[in-house]
This record gives sequence, C-alpha cells and structure tokens, in this order.
Amino acid sequence: MTLLPGPIDPPTRLLMGPGPISAYPSVLTAMSAQLVGQYDPFMTGAMAETQELYRRIWATRNDATLLIDGTSRAGIEAAMISLVRPGDRVLVPVFGRFGHLLAEIAERAMAEVHTIEVPWGQVFTPAAIEEAIVRVRPHLLGLVQGDTSTTMLQPLDEIGAICDRHGVLFYSDATASLGGNPFEADAWGLDAATAGLQKCLGGPSGSAPITLSERAVEIIRSRKKIEAGIREPGDEDAPDFVRSNYFDLGMILDYWGPRRLNHHTEATSMLYGARECARVLLGEGRDAVIERHVLHGEAMLAGVRGLGLVVFGDVAHKMSNVVAVEIPEGVAGDAARQAMLEDFGIEIGTSFGPLHGRVWRIGTMGYNARKDAVLTTLAALEQVLRRFGAKVPAGGGVEAALDVYAGAR
Ligand SMILES: *Cc1c(COP(=O)(O)O)cnc(C)c1O
Repeated sequence: MTLLPGPIDPPTRLLMGPGPISAYPSVLTAMSAQLVGQYDPFMTGAMAETQELYRRIWATRNDATLLIDGTSRAGIEAAMISLVRPGDRVLVPVFGRFGHLLAEIAERAMAEVHTIEVPWGQVFTPAAIEEAIVRVRPHLLGLVQGDTSTTMLQPLDEIGAICDRHGVLFYSDATASLGGNPFEADAWGLDAATAGLQKCLGGPSGSAPITLSERAVEIIRSRKKIEAGIREPGDEDAPDFVRSNYFDLGMILDYWGPRRLNHHTEATSMLYGARECARVLLGEGRDAVIERHVLHGEAMLAGVRGLGLVVFGDVAHKMSNVVAVEIPEGVAGDAARQAMLEDFGIEIGTSFGPLHGRVWRIGTMGYNARKDAVLTTLAALEQVLRRFGAKVPAGGGVEAALDVYAGAR
C-alpha cells in the first residue's frame, strides 16, 4: 500500500522577504469560493467588476484593463510578444535583475534589444533615458518601476512625456511596486503596465493585472490574426502575427471584451483572489495603503539601522516596501536566514547576481506592512545576529522602529 500524504497543511510563517508575502486572509477566503461556469453571468459580472477595480488601482481610464492568467512574467510576456514585432527595436534600461528579464523576454519576442545600465543600487535620470531613446530610436521602452533585486524605485513620472515626444511606446513592469508606491498609468503616459499579486497587493502569485492604452490596443489590433480555420495561405510567413496563442493580447482582449470570444478558461479562483486583493486595497484607500507601506517601510529601515546594519543602495530612491541590508562581516548569511525561518518562522530574502551573499532583503508589504510584523522581525533578527557573532545594540532595532511609530524620527 502506498502512503497517501495528508491534506496540505503548511507551517505558520511570517513572510518578510521580497515576495511572495503572507496573503490577506480575506483573499484566501475568496479563493476558496465555489467555481461557476466560464460564461455564467456571475462570472462575466465578476470579471467586469475586477476590471473596474484595477482601473482604479492603475489610475487609468483604459478600457483594456484585465488579468493575464499566470505569474507576473505572464503579463510581461503578453505585453512584449503582443506589442513588439520581430525586428522592432526595444530599449531596456537595466537597474537590476528584472531589467535583464525584460530584455530577455524582448529578445524571445525577436526584438532588436538595446540596454543601458546603471550600477545596482541606483536608478536612471530622465535625461539618461532620453539620450538613449534618441540614440536607439526604439519602438518600445521597457522599464521596471520597482526592482526587488536592488530595492530601487525608478521614477516614471517624466518618462511618458519623453516617450511621447519621440513616438515610443512606454511599458512598465510594476510587479514589485504597485499598491505600495504611487503609480499613475494615465497621468504618467503609460501605454502598457503589468503586475502580479504577490507583492504589495497581498495575494498569491498566479494572476497578472495588465492595463493597455488605446495606442497599445491599436498596435495589437493591427497584427495579423492567426486562428485555426481563418488563416490565409501564405500567412505562416507573415512577419507580424503574435507568436503565442496563450499570450496573444488580441485574443485575450476579445475574451474579456463585450464579444466574449472563447480563448482560455479564465482561472476562476485566481480571479476571485485578484478581485479581493483590489477590493481590500480600495476599501482601505489607495493613498492610505501607500502611506501604510511608507510608514512600516520607514520603521523597518530605522530598525535595521538601529541594529547597526548598513543599508544597500541609494536610499532616496528605495521602494517603500523592501529594504536590502549588508550581511555583517563574519555572519554566515544563509545559516542566519535559516535560523530566522526555523527558530522564529520568519522568512527574509536572499539576493541575486552581484549582491548574492552580500545582502539580505526584508519586505514590509501587503498584509505584512504591519507594526507587529515589523517589530517581531526586528526582535528575531537581533537575536539571530547575536547568535551568529554580530555585535548588535540590545533592543536597538525594535526601539528605533517604535520611535518611528511614535512619530519621533
Ligand atoms: C517579483 C517580481 C516579478 C515576479 O515575477 P513572477 O513571474 O511573478 O515570479 C517580476 N517583476 C518584478 C519587477 C518583480 O519584482
């Protein structure tokens, strides 16, 4: 007889890394609701409601505001492969790991990809981006807003006008930042933006909110339709059809739009979850949620400094919701992180690329942008650091965070 594993029963964890983070309880409840049929009026109604909720989160009037089923990179792939024709030039300013991801996905969309870079821990000036646009003359600019690999927040507010002046489509990956930092799709002139739920939106990964300007929709609509049965002879060689069925935004728009043309089966439970993430956020208030992320992010920043840790990068351009700290000399970084998890049930993040083994990343986002989560993490971190040989001021982390909460910064 083979042994059957028991029902899923995860340990209690406080997820204080760069994402995923512990979900809002009401999101988990929403996701356990019973399924309905794909074209049940309840379902199409819930889809329409979700679109309207996300218009408010993106701050847009874009009709084409919907969800791509899949993790955040599903949104990135859909945007890239649908907006970029093979041979189109794409410019990606890279300031961390996710810039490299945009460049890679653009390459797979057969774009001619150009990158510019700043050292990790910095962001681009609008002038540097404009200079590169003038030189490269791209079809599309792909720019990450918040890159969790470095914790930096790239200012986007002046970039749309630059793109407009030069006739460039403006796309941003706001996965890490949306909800916890300002984002104004219309006011900042975005043509496309994508996100995921597992950062400041407080849900699980698996759904990618996307919004598309009219100009972006026109480009998508202008691409050749390749559907079974309607393809014309010779179309196989047409250079401009979208080389993915799943991520063909033209088909996905027709599915979410009034025609409701069948495409994939909308991931019902993820839709429930995404809808609830947005409902929670808007119920608290878009600005209030951003302010909450700022407050708890500042408390965590003060707290890690109160423990004597050195903060990585240009703090003036840090996202509100994540901080990177240098691992002190002599402390075994991975073992200390493991002690945080095993002894305290708290997860903090490791790092990638040039920062691997050098910094930990600690997030305060979504459901865990909370005073008790911040103080508990700092108290545990103090204990772990001491056990791993670091000299830390007793109570220095919690004390500094409490000062922030008392308004005595
Ligand atoms: C976390 C993150 C992602 C995650 O992508 P997934 O496909 O959901 O794993 C993408 N982009 C950025 C900027 C992120 O910070």
